[in-house]
Amino acid sequence: RSDWTWEQIRAEFPVLRQSIDGHPLSYLDNAASSQMPQEVIDRLTWYQSAEHSNVHRGVHTLSQKATDAYEKAREKVARFINAPDSAQCIFTRGATEGVNLVMHGWGRKFVEEGDEIIVTALEHHANIVPWQMLCEEKGATLKVIPMTDAGELVVDELPTLLSDKTKMVCVSHVSNALGTVNPVEDIIEQAHAHGVPVLVDGCQAVPHMKVDVQALDADFYVFSGHKMCGPTGIGILYGKRELLEAMNPFMGGGDMIRTVTFEKTEYAPIPHKFEAGTPSILAVVGLGAAIDYLESIGMDRIARREAELLEYATQRIEELDFIRILGTAPNKASVISFEVLGVHPHDVGTILDTEGVAIRAGHHCAQPVMDRLGVPATARASLAFYNNKDDVDALIGALQTVKDIFG
Ligand code: PMP
Repeated sequence: RSDWTWEQIRAEFPVLRQSIDGHPLSYLDNAASSQMPQEVIDRLTWYQSAEHSNVHRGVHTLSQKATDAYEKAREKVARFINAPDSAQCIFTRGATEGVNLVMHGWGRKFVEEGDEIIVTALEHHANIVPWQMLCEEKGATLKVIPMTDAGELVVDELPTLLSDKTKMVCVSHVSNALGTVNPVEDIIEQAHAHGVPVLVDGCQAVPHMKVDVQALDADFYVFSGHKMCGPTGIGILYGKRELLEAMNPFMGGGDMIRTVTFEKTEYAPIPHKFEAGTPSILAVVGLGAAIDYLESIGMDRIARREAELLEYATQRIEELDFIRILGTAPNKASVISFEVLGVHPHDVGTILDTEGVAIRAGHHCAQPVMDRLGVPATARASLAFYNNKDDVDALIGALQTVKDIFG
């Protein structure tokens, strides 16, 4: 699809063909969940129709087909993020489970009383709460890289936060609340200079840009399938081999063992050590198809398209004097958070919906970001490559309606 028009590509998303209250759907809630193209939907149907069975267990043909589809998807993931080995890509239920897996498997084993974990002011709750739980359990301390009013991390503060007690730095690649692209390379370099590993939450980066975990030198990298044209119920935890091998398993059960006796269990090697029980095989296969789909367009092309749409949307919103954009960093990806002055974001979202414009209103699971900016919530429009200028124009038109209603 590298030479397809964007309208041809958009036409592959059946969900976008519907109307809401007589208005064509303008789906601008992609940071919450993106949509699936027909090719991914067809792959899910084919798996269910022709290949479904349990994995890694049966000697029969169908089980081998399912296992093959499952493990091929792992190879696609590894290639997509440039992991050195697909065994370093663990299937999880989503990014949240990925962070929790590291917290339980690594954190509970290696973090001790008096240690420190560093997070950033821009994190999603998924990359705060598990670390808080760990700190509470271990008597460790959570430290925070602050942010500016524009929503940029003050990375200059990192040297004063890093100490010989620091056990992990946890940072989002792109903020879901404001869209800021964080300087993860710089943060990783500084942390590594202190011998500290870094977990990157890549939920909002992987769908929008080429991500190379080796070039970043990330120690852990997590993301979710449903934000990258795949199904829900599937995510990835990438980790460096030596870290994954040193970790304890998160859950015990079938599939994650080599041998079991009542005296002792020997665990399976990675990745299976972290995949206890029957996995979400269908969703894994769907994620593999989503990766094929994104690669058929090209991640660089997707990034350029979304940058153009973001620029257009930002410019159009800036023309509206009753709106304030929150998060004005120069380097942003696919997200515009804003407030309509004097109107609660939930009212904004509800009125926009009556004109077919789907956005998110709330704290975006990033309450500390809202507190820092002094707002209870924001309205958030988030773009994908299949959006177009008509979607942005529909947003602008609906925002005018909000103004007309509220005066
Ligand atoms: N981190 C970020 C930056 C996110 O945007 C999200 C999803 N909103 C998550 C983590 C959590 O992802 P999931 O709910 O798929 O586990």
